[in-house]
Amino acid sequence: MNPWFAKAVILIASIVMVVIRAPYGQRSRTVPIAKSQKGRLEIVLLTIAWIAFFLPLIWIVTPLFAFADYPLHAVPLVAGTLCLALGLWLFHRSHADLGTNWSITLQMRENHELVTQGVYRWVRHPMYLAFLIYSIGQALAVPNWFVGPSYGVAMLLLVALRVGPEEQMMLEEFGKDYEEYSAATKRLVPGIW
Ligand code: SAH
Repeated sequence: MNPWFAKAVILIASIVMVVIRAPYGQRSRTVPIAKSQKGRLEIVLLTIAWIAFFLPLIWIVTPLFAFADYPLHAVPLVAGTLCLALGLWLFHRSHADLGTNWSITLQMRENHELVTQGVYRWVRHPMYLAFLIYSIGQALAVPNWFVGPSYGVAMLLLVALRVGPEEQMMLEEFGKDYEEYSAATKRLVPGIW
């Protein structure tokens, strides 16, 4: 198949992700930050995430990663597109449920509320789950062994290194309420983990 099908899919998915985030990002910027734990590790993780986000776009417009291209087939492209769509839907729902409590890093907003409703009833980290599902979609849809899995590597790193400190921060802030929420709701895989 013509690789431009995959290029179109990942370009649209990237644009949709930016369009979903933009209004929520703007809204949460209007709420002052009460507490921040943005240390060196957070800066490194965010930088890696940004680079990983731009890699497919570089792959689309330059031949820089052509050395890692392989032929595109319909089945992984369709499966990948479905995962990308599911990831984007969950990303949108997480933002909608989290509202102005969202931050790009480990921060608490003024009057921060613990969200346990909507997709936060299924898992404690639906937005990270959305990124992981999106990553699987990219790995399937992009016929390039370097660019395809790159977002997954960045997101696995982010999830592995951030979930612990984030939960600790939530526990310090919400105490018993977060303990009860954690007891009732799994981390990333509904009902399992
Ligand atoms: N880990 C969550 C949220 C990612 S955004 C997810 O994957 O869906 C990161 C910020 O969201 C954190 O800094 C924290 O301030 C906030 N946060 C995380 N879980 C929350 C919850 N259940 N209720 C309210 N805010 C939450």
